[in-house]
Amino acid sequence: MAVISHWLNNKSYPGTRVDTAPVTNPATGAVTGQVALASVEDARAVIDAAAAAFPAWRDTSLAKRSSIVFKFRELLNARKGELAEIITAEHGKVVSDALGEVSRGQEVVEFACGMPHLLKGGMTENASTNIDVSSIRQPVGPVGIISPFNFPAMVPMWFFPIAIAAGNTVVLKPSEKDPTAAIWMAELWAEAGLPAGVFNVLQGDKTAVDELLTNPAIKAISFVGSTPIAQYVYATGTAHGKRVQALGGAKNHAIVLPDADLDLAADAMVNAGFGSAGERCMAISALVAVGDIADELVAKIKERTDTLKIGDGTQDSDMGPLVTKVHRDKVASYIDAGEQDGATIVVDGRTVQANGGADGFWLGPTLIDHVTTDMSVYTDEIFGPVLSVIRVESYDEALELVNSSQFGNGTAIFTNDGGAARRFQNEVEVGMVGINVPIPVPMAYYSFGGWKNSLFGDSHAHGTEGVHFFTRGKVVTTRWLDPSHGGLNLGFPQNN
Ligand code: NAD
Repeated sequence: MAVISHWLNNKSYPGTRVDTAPVTNPATGAVTGQVALASVEDARAVIDAAAAAFPAWRDTSLAKRSSIVFKFRELLNARKGELAEIITAEHGKVVSDALGEVSRGQEVVEFACGMPHLLKGGMTENASTNIDVSSIRQPVGPVGIISPFNFPAMVPMWFFPIAIAAGNTVVLKPSEKDPTAAIWMAELWAEAGLPAGVFNVLQGDKTAVDELLTNPAIKAISFVGSTPIAQYVYATGTAHGKRVQALGGAKNHAIVLPDADLDLAADAMVNAGFGSAGERCMAISALVAVGDIADELVAKIKERTDTLKIGDGTQDSDMGPLVTKVHRDKVASYIDAGEQDGATIVVDGRTVQANGGADGFWLGPTLIDHVTTDMSVYTDEIFGPVLSVIRVESYDEALELVNSSQFGNGTAIFTNDGGAARRFQNEVEVGMVGINVPIPVPMAYYSFGGWKNSLFGDSHAHGTEGVHFFTRGKVVTTRWLDPSHGGLNLGFPQNN
């Protein structure tokens, strides 16, 4: 059986192989490989490679660095179908959705191709008499990227194109559930001409993460995953002197106002609730129906949900399986709890007939009505194809619900009232807001990130905040001496 290894110095690195974990195809339940779980020794070897490569990469011209990133973009664009198939085989999402993920990651690669422009500093001539001042931004050093299972290509690409183009070296620690995409991207970097040691992959679990968080050679950490781990990563990394951006979990609400186009809203709820089996940090999991539209809206969502084809992501399916059996069972247990708590199960995914392997990790789309805020199906991030409907009387009540959440990743409002939408964008305490757009993922040149327990740190991913995160500012004050200069002056420098 294939062992999925680490990657350093542009080649596969077996490491000590003291421990491995199974990788499964969620559509069949079959174990398809074993991923190496790094020992501390393995982690240090990979980090050392990134540290050794940093000085030369930092000093490689921007023109050369950008041309390699551009080459990576060309290869990715030409061969993204291969990457999508790898994602589907280990994650389970349907191939078209996997392709969408790769394309959204590619947008960040394209953004990073413009790094020479993004890194331009400022210059002030004659700030004081015969004194010029300039600002420059420099790479921070070797950086660690720790990514979740749900976007094995896109989430790493939120960070590494920018980090690399800006002159840093990278250690990517992908999720142990779907580790092959990272190796495929590493091979692509090598083909694009990236020097050895600039992009490295460390496979593993907590041992690997802890070494990244504490090893002094690593200067910055970009993390994406669940809130408790994000909190831990932020606390540990910053305590070890690193800058850290740690993106956490979510529970995204969509508010539907009484004047909304209910057909548009129903389409959006199905797409955003059940796409990628709800395993998206921007999925809508709480639908807040305002006023007397709830019965009609729920009926429209049910009608659409009943048409969805659940099955193997490589076949003609709308939605694939969940990532692991453990996760599937956990999500199903939330549906059980909602039922016991008195909510109405309108569409029950527990009884799904899927077009896939008998041992696949199947759970169909589930629509639950009359959910109240004390139920675990509402309070917890479930991360599965479960859409809860909460009925409220007014906009104010709906807003209060969203703003009371511990999470603040994404949200959306559906309305034809511009004034209400404008009020919502102003009042809601969430980092990414959609107006008649259910999954408002920002473009690469804006920054991605939530508020509250959805992000720890002060930098969002990609866009100019990403460039800022992966660089340090320096200000240079310059005077070229001429014969008239001279004299001692111990006072604080003043301008003249
Ligand atoms: P996770 O927190 O279990 O794992 C994320 C990463 O942390 C993985 O690489 C994993 O190996 C590592 N990890 C797990 N346990 C650890 C521990 N105890 N110590 C150190 N490292 C550990 O998350 P997941 O299940 O892979 O991904 C789903 C979660 O990610 C959801 O909560 C989802 O909302 C979140 N997510 C958030 C965003 C965002 O932008 N905010 C995007 C995607 C996913």
